[in-house]
Amino acid sequence: MNRERAHHISTTDTAGETFSLDAFVDIVNIRKHFHGPGGFFSGRKSVIRAVEGVSLKIRRGETLGLVGESGCGKTTLGRMVARLETPTDGEIRFKGVDIVGLGGKDLRNFRKNVQLIFQDPYSSLNPRMSAGAIIGEAMGIHGIARGEERKRRVAELMKTVGLSEEQMGRYPHEFSGGQRQRIGIARALSVNPDLIIADEPVSALDVSIQAQILNLLKRLQRELELTYLFISHDLGVVGHVSDRIAVMYLGKLVELAKKNQILQEARHPYTKALLSAVPVPDPRRKRQRIPLGGDIPSPINPPSGCTFHPRCSSSVEICRSVVPELTMAADGHLVACHRHT
Ligand code: ATP
Repeated sequence: MNRERAHHISTTDTAGETFSLDAFVDIVNIRKHFHGPGGFFSGRKSVIRAVEGVSLKIRRGETLGLVGESGCGKTTLGRMVARLETPTDGEIRFKGVDIVGLGGKDLRNFRKNVQLIFQDPYSSLNPRMSAGAIIGEAMGIHGIARGEERKRRVAELMKTVGLSEEQMGRYPHEFSGGQRQRIGIARALSVNPDLIIADEPVSALDVSIQAQILNLLKRLQRELELTYLFISHDLGVVGHVSDRIAVMYLGKLVELAKKNQILQEARHPYTKALLSAVPVPDPRRKRQRIPLGGDIPSPINPPSGCTFHPRCSSSVEICRSVVPELTMAADGHLVACHRHT
């Protein structure tokens, strides 16, 4: 696939990080609030603060991992980047263009550039359509190819993702979980996207199959010069594929750094707790498990100050009242914690 090479111009963003001006995605202070249930006595609707002021950049060609427990707002953030949800507030620029206000043809063109891969390939594939029809559908919608040409391209895509042309006429239930995810990947690739948002793409698969799919995604990234936003609750999986990792807690980023900085020098107590749950391959080098007490609090009524403080063993007085800003702790390593900057 031919892609124009980006011309990289370095500059410095507000956090002092170096990035290229053609940073693919530039997310500026986005929020997403949903209407929650009404109060029993007041009858007034509550507000679910799913994403609460997130800023980050996704660079061309990188894999940015987004990790956090269930309910922290990862999917909502990914859906806003794909413009499947409209932010309540804030900006999202894709190749320099603000996508929040896009409509009509511009929105359709943008949607072609950004594709999603979902957690459960079975429920995201139409059971009444053959694999070939599923993979070729978007090519028809976007007027990319029809007839014999579409069939040829579907066959090529199937080969690219490790399926065979002969499986084109089979239906989703005739494939294994891993094969179904390969169909989902081929479908995403069918419109030659630039950015892929993979939301828990291996969480529903057996561990042995997970590695195959992750390796496939990495190979495709190299060959097709793709950019990934890779969403998972599992820091082990995110660590395997990402160049940089953003850690999210209750709608906010709490840490953002290069993969090795997160895996070897995590600074936020929440990241350290997530990391302590990742199995280490060498049984002699056991990690000490840092328990995460209780569940993630409700985004309807988040705790004051640092929202992690009720579960944090290092919290002190200031953590209860003052919201910690995401600040530079070391070479491009951002962390939002009063105790660990
Ligand atoms: P999971 O992995 O379980 O999907 P997540 O980290 O991706 O978790 P989100 O799915 O983004 O989190 O949800 C963040 C919060 O927003 C949750 O409290 C969720 O219940 C709420 N939420 C998400 N979508 C909606 C919606 N359409 N309407 C109301 N609340 C929503």
